[in-house]
Amino acid sequence: MSDLLSDLVSALRDGSLRIVDLTQPLGPDTPVIGLPPPYANSPGVSIENISRFDDDGPAWYWNVLSFGEHTGTHFDAPGHWITGRDLPRNTCDTIAPERFVGPACVIDVSTEVAANPDFLLTPDHIEQWEKEHGRIPAGAWVLLRTDWSHREGADAFLNVSDDGPHSPGFSPQASSLLALDRNITGVGVETVGTDAGQAGGFDPPFSNHSIMHGAGKLGLASLCNLDQLPANGAVVIAAPLKIVDGSGSPLRVLAIISTA
Ligand code: MN
Repeated sequence: MSDLLSDLVSALRDGSLRIVDLTQPLGPDTPVIGLPPPYANSPGVSIENISRFDDDGPAWYWNVLSFGEHTGTHFDAPGHWITGRDLPRNTCDTIAPERFVGPACVIDVSTEVAANPDFLLTPDHIEQWEKEHGRIPAGAWVLLRTDWSHREGADAFLNVSDDGPHSPGFSPQASSLLALDRNITGVGVETVGTDAGQAGGFDPPFSNHSIMHGAGKLGLASLCNLDQLPANGAVVIAAPLKIVDGSGSPLRVLAIISTA
């Protein structure tokens, strides 16, 4: 084994590196985004036994899973959006796997979001972060820490009012800066999707999806435990299921952090 890899394994074993699980549990209680009519909606999660140590399988337990691609902690491929539909290698099965692993830049806006659930990240916030932590590198996963994952129950998590959902996200200008000027791999958020709740009314509509995926960038939604990550220096591994022509996939998202 190379020194680099044996050092990695040793550091994970001796605790000088630690794995942080950024994934929410996936089950029948997982909240699912709701779209207004006339749009079709994704079902929730169902898990049905095939057998569980019974007549259908006396020594084995297994289930049938049913859910939309964009459920729970999940991955958005560029082909998810109309702006990215003609890009090369734009689906879960064709994206280069090297892209799934990258450095994390964690932008903490939890204080702002506590005061304003419709908070939007702007280029000013990004440039302020960079003054403290250095320029966001090409290939970064930019994770927006909002502490939204601390909200308990689907109602608080989706936070829907008469005028639609209210949850934080990115201004169109921030998405453009990250995708085009910083050439990041993608963004990750704690909310149900990578756009702000009110982004259906932005220009362009659902601006983060539109801009990121149009630039071939990736998305991660419904993350948790971002409060356990340093602003800089973690490595994120986010590999979707290799669904043929898949627009997205639930996945396990892991971060490696240094405890030294
Ligand atoms: Mn999605």
